[in-house]
Amino acid sequence: MIETGHPADAGTRSGRSRLIVLAGPTAVGKGTVAAAVRETHPEVWISVSATTRAPRPGEENGVHYWFVSDEEFDAMVEKGDLLEWAVVHRAARYGTPRGPVDLALASGQPAMLEIDLQGARQVRETMPEALFVFLKPPSWEELVRRLVGRGTEDEAERERRLETARHELAAESEFDVTIVNHEVHAAADELVALMVGPGLRHPDQPPSD
Ligand code: 5GP
Repeated sequence: MIETGHPADAGTRSGRSRLIVLAGPTAVGKGTVAAAVRETHPEVWISVSATTRAPRPGEENGVHYWFVSDEEFDAMVEKGDLLEWAVVHRAARYGTPRGPVDLALASGQPAMLEIDLQGARQVRETMPEALFVFLKPPSWEELVRRLVGRGTEDEAERERRLETARHELAAESEFDVTIVNHEVHAAADELVALMVGPGLRHPDQPPSD
């Protein structure tokens, strides 16, 4: 379900933006929605972030993340190779490699970043023409259920993430569009429609091609 109403509804600030920044509270299912987009919409390019956290079972280097050491991450920051980066859950660093994003946008491909709120705020500073989408859980109870159900974090880590999530939910109004993640494929389709559908063109603006 899409909730709009923000003045910058559906990216109408720019008729040509093909970059979507997807953020939202922890455990809302951003990664799962991004994976569904990857699976069903290969025309959408999805950024692969660099992270200093260890891979979870089944995660592949270069597919889910670029798993790097602290030193490698430091080097990327120093060289200015990251479009944005943040320490997430006070645990590890995550960042978006800049070069691949530039390449995807230059080629005219619709592109998507799935990042945390701190990262989204940084991108808003440097690429305000992007469309900022907030993925929201159907309810707080559902968010807690998803976080606990995932079972990949220990008790202390879960508490940390819930605390972060409480703050993150409050940031919804900073975003252009909200999508409620009732069902992953529906949310993925809504997201893609914002990128490739008529949603990115201002109603008063003629098609550009
Ligand atoms: P996880 O460790 O569960 O894969 O991801 C933890 C959090 O890091 C998620 O909220 C995810 O959106 C965020 N994240 C993943 N990649 C990036 C990135 O490149 N930059 C930022 N700022 N956050 C990221």
